[in-house]
Amino acid sequence: MSDTAGFDVAEVPPSPSVLTIDLSVNSLPDPSYHDFLARRNRTEYDAVLETLKLFYKGENHAPLDAFENCRRFAFFTRHKDTGEVKVLSSCCHNRWCPPCATAKASVFSGRIEEWLTGRKRPRQLELTLRSTGLPLREQTDELYRCWRLLRLDPLFKKVFLAGVWFFQITYNAETGLFHPHLHCLFVGSYAKQSAISEKWSEITNGSTYVFIQSVKDVSTSAKYVSRYVARPMLLSDLPEDRRLELVDAMYHRRTAGTFGRDGLRPDLTIPKQDLTPYIRICSWSELRDLIATSKIHQVIYKCWLTGKPLPEPAILLLSRSSEEKPELLPTGPPAVFGGILAGFSADFRGDFSDNVRALRA
Ligand SMILES: [Zn+2]
Repeated sequence: MSDTAGFDVAEVPPSPSVLTIDLSVNSLPDPSYHDFLARRNRTEYDAVLETLKLFYKGENHAPLDAFENCRRFAFFTRHKDTGEVKVLSSCCHNRWCPPCATAKASVFSGRIEEWLTGRKRPRQLELTLRSTGLPLREQTDELYRCWRLLRLDPLFKKVFLAGVWFFQITYNAETGLFHPHLHCLFVGSYAKQSAISEKWSEITNGSTYVFIQSVKDVSTSAKYVSRYVARPMLLSDLPEDRRLELVDAMYHRRTAGTFGRDGLRPDLTIPKQDLTPYIRICSWSELRDLIATSKIHQVIYKCWLTGKPLPEPAILLLSRSSEEKPELLPTGPPAVFGGILAGFSADFRGDFSDNVRALRA
């Protein structure tokens, strides 16, 4: 269930709505960064929490504890040259965790866009199986089995030189059926859609739906497919009694991968971010305790929300007032908080619900 440990980064541009934030005593920051994010995405957070409680019932509680504490330990930092304010926080890397999933999607989208830029005639492929009433785990196994067989086919290898694939599930509330399918972005030579469809039908024993189209805008397509890199759908989009089935079917299952010739296939390794220029200012809880009476803490919070640079003098003043010198952040993975958390992540300044809306689009 966990992904790469260590630092990762997702820069989400601030939403215009936060520019008018009221910093009066009555609008104190949330008790923690976790609460700040959860409040903006309450429906999905609650759906995930309730489902994970059922999933881990009586067994391993560590992933559930990590999810409940994701981004609860957070501190504000300032870039020593640009003045940019970032929040660095602990993170759980659980695939269902809304901020962790969005952070991963954001990084992958950038990597895929990099790979696709300048490629000749990139295209998008969608492969589906006929919906059935079989348990989701069985349907997913079957889709992955057929996808493996298709990639071994000589026609496929000739046309699809290299690419990246993502697994997605939709749910039809009227029929009560899941609809697992795959999205790919690829480069290669031309082939008739009908030829691929025929091959797919042969492998799947009758599923003929294959859709191929040109990539018109690399950035849009990269963002579109990357939405599914961590989780194949939102749990809150399912009726309560079907959520556990989805979490169970996805347990220890990859939702994305690459294929094709070495040297041409995309490299989706997530680069480590250099956090050494970020100087620690104060913890989230310290800022919350002081913001009602401290102008400096109000400025720090406002700069973070709006994305405006924090002037240097504010740091110096703060440093003197707390009789502490600003310290540089460590360059490697930080010490684990409470023994249960995987790493640090930064940063969601903006209105998190914007990202959730994007996921639903
Ligand atoms: Zn998380």
